[in-house]
Amino acid sequence: MIPIIKIFEKLFKIPKGPKCIECKSLLIESNCPNMDCPVEVASWIMMWASPAAANISILDDKTTLKLAQYNLVIHPADLYDLSESDWLQIQTMDKIKIGKIMQQLNQSKSMDAKSLLYGFRIKGMDLEMAKNLTNKFQSISKIRELKIESLMTVDRISEETAFNIKRWFKDSFNKKMLKALDKYGFQLD
Ligand SMILES: [Zn+2]
Repeated sequence: MIPIIKIFEKLFKIPKGPKCIECKSLLIESNCPNMDCPVEVASWIMMWASPAAANISILDDKTTLKLAQYNLVIHPADLYDLSESDWLQIQTMDKIKIGKIMQQLNQSKSMDAKSLLYGFRIKGMDLEMAKNLTNKFQSISKIRELKIESLMTVDRISEETAFNIKRWFKDSFNKKMLKALDKYGFQLD
């Protein structure tokens, strides 16, 4: 018997292609479209940890993927809420390493608006755009209130990117993350 999915594929021409190794979603432009996928969560955390953003050099991609697989993090702000026992769930961790991680996490709380904006991983936003935006409007709390037209006055920000910025700040998941960052002492104003 032909599996039902094969019949659907024939009828509706469901695209076949490479799938995510973690959650098996069909990849779109080699990215997993599933926002809850541990691979996606881990890749956001790695971007957050990069030198241009929070600069948490001690975090490696294996540790980050484990954090996501164990559901210890769903967005970067969750890193700041992890206890020593959370970290110890990861086999490669020891108390000395955790101490260093905590130190780097604390230091990252003074990251500037440009690094924050870049670390939010807004679609289409690169470091230069984040820099242009913060040069003109200074703070995250100002940028989040801007209209599409104002965002587009910034060098290199297209209408599409301006729309993505607006959408990112409107998203309830991201709003929760911003609230958490504010609570942990990040400079959003
Ligand atoms: Zn996936």
